[in-house]
Amino acid sequence: MNERNLLAEADRRALVYLDGLAMQRVFPDDKAIAALAAFEQALPEDGSDADQVLCQLDEIGSPATVASNAARYFGFVIGATLPVAAAAERLVLAWDQCASSFDNSPVADRLEKVAGRWVCQALGLPDQSAVGFGTSATACTLACICAARRVLLARQGWDFDGDGLLGAPQIRVVLAETAHITVKKALRVLGFGMNHLHYAPVDQYGCIDPARLPELDERTLLILQAGEVNTGEFDRFAELIAIAREANAWVHVDGAFGLWARASSSAHLLEGVELADSWTTDGHKWLNTPYDSAMAICRDADALAAAMNSDAAYASASKDAQKNLTLEFSRRARGIAIWAALAHLGRTGLKAMIDRHIRQAEELASTLRNAGYQVLNRVVLNQVLVRGDTDEQTIAIRQAAQASGEVWFGPTVWQGRPAFRLSLCSWRTEDADVEALGALLRRLKDELS
Ligand SMILES: *Cc1c(COP(=O)(O)O)cnc(C)c1O
Repeated sequence: MNERNLLAEADRRALVYLDGLAMQRVFPDDKAIAALAAFEQALPEDGSDADQVLCQLDEIGSPATVASNAARYFGFVIGATLPVAAAAERLVLAWDQCASSFDNSPVADRLEKVAGRWVCQALGLPDQSAVGFGTSATACTLACICAARRVLLARQGWDFDGDGLLGAPQIRVVLAETAHITVKKALRVLGFGMNHLHYAPVDQYGCIDPARLPELDERTLLILQAGEVNTGEFDRFAELIAIAREANAWVHVDGAFGLWARASSSAHLLEGVELADSWTTDGHKWLNTPYDSAMAICRDADALAAAMNSDAAYASASKDAQKNLTLEFSRRARGIAIWAALAHLGRTGLKAMIDRHIRQAEELASTLRNAGYQVLNRVVLNQVLVRGDTDEQTIAIRQAAQASGEVWFGPTVWQGRPAFRLSLCSWRTEDADVEALGALLRRLKDELS
């Protein structure tokens, strides 16, 4: 098959897949999973025809997918892919650009600069900020923490690039006990040591209690959260950042999904978040762009550019080139799908999507309360944290819902006991889908009581 026919065939298969998504089980059945064994072959000596490879991928692979690009996936905070972002991604694949710098790709360089500016405008963050498009909030948080540490050490007269950490003044990290595991991972990978983190006590909503905030000083990195993974709550930014400013500490905000509420009618819940020094957010969650789509945003553009610099004699570029703002050197132009999503939605469309999910979460919470569930959070955002009458029932209901294939959501532990977590963040999720979820959970509660 020639290239043209092969790509047309891939698109044809992709469209058949998308057409069937609404009918597909949300989590694949055992048969589809068992069929994946067909992939377990030795590296072939001689390859196969491209169309056979594609056919095998589709026939064995597609049935074993999780329908997270569909309307009834409520797990993690996954999000689907907006058609405009998927379409842009297809074109960008044909371009095959290395989006390191202007010299590698003028179009990627320009579009990602626009996308970065738009993201700051949509989220109400300072417009001179540097925006690096990384693979994940994990990688972007790591990049921001590198920038923070380097600046805090420089303020102590320490040359981090030259002298590293050996004998360096100690940087204190203050974060909530409820901080996301990937924030802890970034800190661990960077050598902060899990035993040396200072945990700020949290209130009943999982947010840092300003009254019990550990002491901050000019060697402190304070990490706050916009969107706690279980409750969707926000730290009290205005109050906490004012304390940090006074102490000359660096404030980083993990806003992997919750920062997008800045573009909604609930923006007031994040008042003061724009006063932080750096932020992380994902495109692949609430903005509904394809995976590997996240942003490291840093108020002091030079701080991120210096920490992430990768200029070489054969590859020097401006400070604001992407290779100087992220961990990656060669990278795909992942910011273009973000540009496409924002160009298509505009402020109004973005606000409507975020507002809808927040409203759907409130409605789902009320349905579930009426069905006799305990809703454990205040439902200020798109997360609904739920428990049945007993731990056993909570677990049994979640397992039955997963096994039904009609929906999918995952378990969590809240305040030491099992719960489950429902996230509303797919552009495809209509009110009817939320009603179907509510009806299923009502039925399962009756059956398993
Ligand atoms: C998902 C998530 C992360 C990690 O994001 P990745 O893009 O998956 O690396 C970090 N923090 C919070 C609050 C999240 O929800």
